[in-house]
Amino acid sequence: MPVQLYNTMSRTIEPFVPIKESEVGLYTCGPTVYNYAHIGNLRTYLFEDTLKRVLMLSGFTVNHVMNITDVGHLTGDGDDGEDKLQRMADAKKQSVWQIADYYTKAFFADFDELNMIRPTTLCKATDHIEQMIDLISRLEERGHTYTSGGNVYFSIDSIPDYGKLARLDLDGMQNASREDVEVDDHKKNPKDFVLWFTRSKHGEQEMMWPSPWGRGFPGWHIECSAMSMYYLGESFDIHCGGIDAIPVHHTNEIAQSEAATGKEWVKYWLHGEFLLDDTGKMSKSKGEFLTLALLKQKGFEALDYRYLVLGAHYRSQLRFSFESLKMAQSARRRINEAVRALVNGGSKRVELASARALSYRDAFLSHVQNDLNTPQALADLWAVIKDGELAADERYTLVLYFDQALALRLDEISADEAIPADVMALFEERNRAKAAKEWGRSDALRDELATMGYVVKDSSAGSSIEKKM
Ligand code: AMP
Ligand code: ZN
Repeated sequence: MPVQLYNTMSRTIEPFVPIKESEVGLYTCGPTVYNYAHIGNLRTYLFEDTLKRVLMLSGFTVNHVMNITDVGHLTGDGDDGEDKLQRMADAKKQSVWQIADYYTKAFFADFDELNMIRPTTLCKATDHIEQMIDLISRLEERGHTYTSGGNVYFSIDSIPDYGKLARLDLDGMQNASREDVEVDDHKKNPKDFVLWFTRSKHGEQEMMWPSPWGRGFPGWHIECSAMSMYYLGESFDIHCGGIDAIPVHHTNEIAQSEAATGKEWVKYWLHGEFLLDDTGKMSKSKGEFLTLALLKQKGFEALDYRYLVLGAHYRSQLRFSFESLKMAQSARRRINEAVRALVNGGSKRVELASARALSYRDAFLSHVQNDLNTPQALADLWAVIKDGELAADERYTLVLYFDQALALRLDEISADEAIPADVMALFEERNRAKAAKEWGRSDALRDELATMGYVVKDSSAGSSIEKKM
């Protein structure tokens, strides 16, 4: 079966046929690096990583480009507000460059811990100002822009199909009240958007460049069009993001890209649904938000979160709770234990031969190829782990095969190692402290063992120790 993907543009599941036979051009909107990523943002990147892995498992080479937004993303979607990075820099009394650098590193620390494959090309907006200016000039030559009050705007009335991705009702919207967005009187149509700013709420800001329209900085949307076309060509296969990008960011990206080239820009649009918290969509503007670091402080591992995310289809909303994360953690522990038992038993990777094993493999592949049905893929993993009729080697081989898409690091599970004598001595001392009800000391010893890389587990049957995975 070919890969089938839900295309937001057509609102249907379509067979995936890339432009080039075996190489896929994939562009994913990257982070705006003014703050830590919250676990909602990470859900979107995890869906994109799963997509990439499934394409690779299906035999494609994936040329993945991701941007880093380090300029031009304002606090308001309607071109109002301040640059998000500049605002954070002012609050922290640091330079914008320091803010960008710090949060980019923090982002990739999370990215790596979640076992996501790094993009083939990672591109910073501030390194591609030239490409953005070129694209705006092209739009200007073709009559799609106007300058007003110092800013260069894209005129949505200069194209016939603005809003086709979101299926916007433009007539209805023109008349609707726009209380949420400060109206920019310089816009001919309220939906026009800024390509180049020379006017900013902040006045002079740190990131500014010379341009044919004056010293200034690019609008947020132009970077994704300019960089994706620079690295992937004027038409490419897949563009992804979270669903909140559909009505404005991706809509504007399409408008300016297709106006500049006169061609269809992207073949398949894929969008991940939201992670919700108790009050609705998880977002940074609410102030407090959950990060991967916070989950780890509470005793979870990054891959527990990956497991939780895999348990919901990417096009369904997922409500986060610590109870569900706890369930994901214990499920993952059981999977890891089962795989460790296979490794301890000497299981090896083999050529799959039995009809039973081959049918598990085919079913798994067809499930992930069916618009990334990861809940079903996890069910397949459990079925294999529990299937006593399958030879251990085939079970182990299937687990490793599935993990190419699931990325739970099951391939890194090694046989139990003998626990070193100094660790055992501390563990025994801890058992004595616990038996003597010296709780403070017993906890301190458990923490010391944790820093050495060992987990102590207490149960009604007694305590045990094992190496952290
Ligand atoms: P940002 O760094 O704010 O540009 O967001 C990065 C990505 O996270 C974008 O693709 C957003 O669409 C996505 N996103 C934002 N909030 C959520 C959420 N609550 N759940 C899932 N994805 C989200
Ligand atoms: Zn983008």
